[in-house]
Amino acid sequence: MESPPAERVKKVSAVVFALLVFLPVLLFSSMIAGREISRFYALAWSLFAAGIAFAIAYTGRVSAYRRVFFSASAVLFLVHFKSGLFPGAPGPSCFKETPFCHIAMAPYFFGYLYQQYLALMSGGWKLWGPLTLGAGWLFVTLAIGRGWCSWACFYGGIDDGLSAIPRRPLIKAGGWVFKLRDLPAALLVFMLLASLAYMLPVYCLWLCPFKLTEVFMDGEPSVRRLQYALMVFALAALVLGPLLTRKRTFCSFLCPFAAWQAFWGRANPFRVTAAPEKCSACGNCAQACPMFAVTCAAGAAAEVLPYCNLCGECLGACPQGALRYTVFGADLPAAGGRLGRLFTAGYFFVFSALTLGGVFSSLWAPAALRDLVKLVLP
Ligand code: SF4
Ligand code: SF4
Repeated sequence: MESPPAERVKKVSAVVFALLVFLPVLLFSSMIAGREISRFYALAWSLFAAGIAFAIAYTGRVSAYRRVFFSASAVLFLVHFKSGLFPGAPGPSCFKETPFCHIAMAPYFFGYLYQQYLALMSGGWKLWGPLTLGAGWLFVTLAIGRGWCSWACFYGGIDDGLSAIPRRPLIKAGGWVFKLRDLPAALLVFMLLASLAYMLPVYCLWLCPFKLTEVFMDGEPSVRRLQYALMVFALAALVLGPLLTRKRTFCSFLCPFAAWQAFWGRANPFRVTAAPEKCSACGNCAQACPMFAVTCAAGAAAEVLPYCNLCGECLGACPQGALRYTVFGADLPAAGGRLGRLFTAGYFFVFSALTLGGVFSSLWAPAALRDLVKLVLP
């Protein structure tokens, strides 16, 4: 039991941290969602993000509460994006101005050259086109780097949430899986070349499981069958894989953006770093990591790979406290005062990631809340 003053300091700093997240999310969420729906839903979404911030700061459990936020954002994306599937639902409203899906971002550039379809040409984003896309991506990369894949991506939220459902893995991934770890990089190169050759968004047409119900299927039956087969395969990696293995199989092996971000994310200062002098080589972190992003050879200290997306899961799994968030591998100098505990690399990162995730998901989350309210109270 902590002494009352320590407990009070913890509560006060958690409230301050929650406010720091709440205000920017509310500002941008109101601007984004408020164009089409009541700002009440933006407020509800901002309060949720602030609640997550409070829970993280008060309990210190980063990954558990991050996962609640991340999965909720992904479920709301599905609710709004696929709301046409529900009879009587209002249908997506907030995607008219959505500029792009980041997963196939790199191949889109080629598609744009030939004025292909997909959202780059949509709404007000048309003016800026690829520049908007490039500027948005650069900002995200500088702010949270690879953290995007564990704090903001709607696909990742599905994979991550499902991987937490089973208590134990039915299929245990052996060490050989690490040999496949560079598969997304190969897929990315293939997608770039194929998109350039055909001037089509190849990932969207052939792999994206969200397109299964869309009009993007080819008119030729044999091609259409192949499209379906590949999309069902991707859907299995997104849904069945995590349920069977407790790992994020889609994000680890099939997402070209994960490979893209693993490379460019190095420009971002935030890292998860293992302290070799503390590490007892128990391997708990490698077992806990849902991304196959940390290795621990027998007798050797843990090593965090460039595929780490800063989810924080391994931090809580390490019995030695050997893993922590750092800035380029170094700790920040300790700050004194009541709020000193917030001046660490971990809190700086969580603030950036949660705020950015909260703002980005304002493109759909408040509208999805509105959809749910309309479904329940027509
Ligand atoms: S190494 Fe740790 S922080 Fe990085 S992805 Fe794996 S569990 Fe998450
Ligand atoms: S869980 Fe901690 S002590 Fe065990 S291998 Fe990983 S970093 Fe080392």
